[in-house]
Amino acid sequence: MNFSLTVLGTGGSAGLPQIGGADGAGDWGACDPAEPRNRRSRASVVIGAPEGNLLVDTGPEIRLQLTSQRIARIDAVLFTHAHADHIAGFDEIRILNRLLGAPMPAYADAACWAELHQRFDYAFKPWSGNGFFRPVLAERVVAAGQIVPILGLPVQLLDQDHGFMRSLGLRIGNLAYCTDVVRFAPEAFAALRGVQTLVIDCFTRGGPHPTHAHLAQVLEWVEALRPARTILTHMGPDMDFRSLCDALPAGIEPGYDGMVIEGV
Ligand SMILES: [Zn+2]
Repeated sequence: MNFSLTVLGTGGSAGLPQIGGADGAGDWGACDPAEPRNRRSRASVVIGAPEGNLLVDTGPEIRLQLTSQRIARIDAVLFTHAHADHIAGFDEIRILNRLLGAPMPAYADAACWAELHQRFDYAFKPWSGNGFFRPVLAERVVAAGQIVPILGLPVQLLDQDHGFMRSLGLRIGNLAYCTDVVRFAPEAFAALRGVQTLVIDCFTRGGPHPTHAHLAQVLEWVEALRPARTILTHMGPDMDFRSLCDALPAGIEPGYDGMVIEGV
């Protein structure tokens, strides 16, 4: 399978720096402001598939993320879940519609679609076919456990426990993208066996978190799955890039905005 993965954003729900800080220029937590890879927008990726670009989630920085990565066209969108940091850029889909010249094929599970309909009701009114003045989606309802063909790739959807809700993980060939997960259902964890590149939620170096994996948990998963390469994402303010690079075992690294993984 030949595809690429561009990591658009690796931040937690508030991004980094968070709004605030002594001088108002941002609160970096334990992260070094001088390290550019500590500047993290909200979690999202683009999968460069054989038949186009699949955007996973539309966070609030999606316009800045796509322009800074020079991605000029999206051919399909998949939503992992309906938290604001994953959907707040939903309106930008109208620009992606204009570039595509068609309703945007979009994949989400039933719970996520219900939330999207409620929050963005205007986007789901009948479309006249006359221009894209609001997002227009070609809705595809999918479910965890399915393998869905998207843009020429078999995308296996994984059931993830995200604390107070479920989220979808993705496995494509030997790569998995699992953001916003605190625990895996046994079937989902079994479906991760054999993964060689694991992009995984790791919000904190501290103790357990109610909705996100913490570092000790990620290390346990890696011990069980033994992927060749593990890349951390959805990182919170205690996840300083350099000190993580120094502390993590071989094969595990913090991701950063703009990271590209080719030829997966
Ligand atoms: Zn979330």
